[in-house]
Amino acid sequence: MSTQDKEQRRAEQREQVERAVRELLTSDGWRRRDPGDVPRLQFDISQTDGESLPEVPREPITGDSHEHYLEPLKALARSMDLTVYEYEPTSEAQGFYDEKGKRIVISTDLAPNGKVRTLIHELAHAHGVTYKEYTRGEAEVIVETAASIVCGSLGLDTSGESIPYIAGWGENGDLAAIKKHAETVDTIARSIETACGFGGRS
Ligand SMILES: [Zn+2]
Repeated sequence: MSTQDKEQRRAEQREQVERAVRELLTSDGWRRRDPGDVPRLQFDISQTDGESLPEVPREPITGDSHEHYLEPLKALARSMDLTVYEYEPTSEAQGFYDEKGKRIVISTDLAPNGKVRTLIHELAHAHGVTYKEYTRGEAEVIVETAASIVCGSLGLDTSGESIPYIAGWGENGDLAAIKKHAETVDTIARSIETACGFGGRS
């Protein structure tokens, strides 16, 4: 694939995500309980300030078809000087990235495919997309868009979780981050895909 083709493909993938999010935002099934609130965070427990957040309807990712990607993803984490831990969750959090502690923590409650997606999400944060550099909403939109692109490339459909998650932030106006930070989304997606043995081809 030429560089131009790749860029074209990326733009299409991002648009797909954005379209799906917009569709959800305008669908009848999508109702925010309390208009002023931000969605419940399924990630980043260490980055939240403990406020109570409404739930986003979502479909958990099941199965173990992509379990073999956990090892290369952990290897990528190690190459970034991060340790990956699994823990028994005491909350809804599926995982978090702890920049100071140089670790990524993911929930033992997740199905193997869910762990793959959560690890990709946290690795995306570790590529410099933290709440220090971006607003919380922008960071989550950037990270989960990159994660859904990577999962799509790996053949793992995460839309049941990713789209509502992004939509939760998109509703607050942060959906624009997909376009505004398109290059960042692509760079992160490519880096994680390469670690999984995809991409890097030209
Ligand atoms: Zn996150």
